[in-house]
Amino acid sequence: MSPLKSLPAILPDPLLQVAQLARLDRRPEKIDLTIGVYRDQHGQTPVLESVKSAEKHLLETERTKSYLSTDGVEQFCEEITGFLLPRGEVTCSDIVTIQAVGGTGALSLAAEFLCRFTKNRTVWVPVPAWSNHVPVMERSGLTVRRLGRSDSLGRRDFPAFMRVIRHQARPGDIILLQPGCHNPTGDDWTDEEWSAIADACIASRLIPILDVAYHGLGRGLHDDISRVHRVFSQAEIAFLSYSCSKNFSLYRERVGALIVGGLKRGLAMAIHPHLSAIARAAYSMPPSHGGSIVGHILANEALRRIWIDELADMQNRLGKIRSTFACHQALAGRDLRHVADGHGMFTLLPLSEQNLIHLRKKHAIYIPSSGRINLAGLNAGNLSRFAYALSQLNN
Ligand code: PMP
Repeated sequence: MSPLKSLPAILPDPLLQVAQLARLDRRPEKIDLTIGVYRDQHGQTPVLESVKSAEKHLLETERTKSYLSTDGVEQFCEEITGFLLPRGEVTCSDIVTIQAVGGTGALSLAAEFLCRFTKNRTVWVPVPAWSNHVPVMERSGLTVRRLGRSDSLGRRDFPAFMRVIRHQARPGDIILLQPGCHNPTGDDWTDEEWSAIADACIASRLIPILDVAYHGLGRGLHDDISRVHRVFSQAEIAFLSYSCSKNFSLYRERVGALIVGGLKRGLAMAIHPHLSAIARAAYSMPPSHGGSIVGHILANEALRRIWIDELADMQNRLGKIRSTFACHQALAGRDLRHVADGHGMFTLLPLSEQNLIHLRKKHAIYIPSSGRINLAGLNAGNLSRFAYALSQLNN
């Protein structure tokens, strides 16, 4: 007899499935718009110069591979906290930071803590969301409730969103928000909308988890994070899940942070040992390499400047692709102003399953079934061909 219960079939991740098809396609004109990884105009995801320099420094100066503390690399935690939430700009009473295994790890730590220590054990996750939001929240044991944020074209619906926050969410519920570079729509709240959402969450006594995975790739380093400052300065307690995967191009190094802070004096400090205990039981400590790189870049004025320039190049490229793509579509009679005005790496295209299969077979263009495209997969060499292929679709 098997020692295991019978294993139910599990559906493969549809995004990874299409990405795999793209990998196997040998046609040279292939356009892969699937996985959310930044690519330059040559289709590459290179290691940043600032990262290479930091690695060189680490190679020369690292003296031990002994264990870290559960909270990770000390310099990373200090630098990232000061960089994201400088004292002058945030007025919360205390802030604590724990290095996490990427943004996913940070979300996971926050969710597990909140499942243990909130009464409602309920998290509101907007629709549409990053495809891993619901699995991460559910894995912790939280009950997931959904609130609509966008119409079928991926355009935001502010009144509907506010109605749920005001009238359906209960005090003590959790809400998972992306302050900018929304994955998958790219259609961010305006500053006014964000302020109203933040105020409504505070008034309804919700616990915000702010998911920042594209800092610097939207409006710029300062403006992208000022939305977080507003919440941390007003909430009793708030959680910031931060990923260094995209903005430092450190995807496989798995580096991120969970930062907790708010107005209630002593609360973040009291939460800290619980986060450490959850991390200790789950994986003991995060890996050191990525955290050491980010810590060193932020601590070193010259390297920090190089990194900021490299990040600005990525941000500018994404902005240009957005406007050029929307322009091509306007010529074909489609109004994609929300794409041009959007931020970050993604946008949603309203494509049917037949459209997607047609694009794949006839044009070697790969888009996941959600219709989310990674704009960084477009470049001067393929953008007009992509726009032409879209204009040839029947519906
Ligand atoms: N949140 C969002 C919105 C994301 O898009 C991603 C990455 N795709 C993450 C979190 C997780 O980032 P990481 O790869 O650092 O775990």
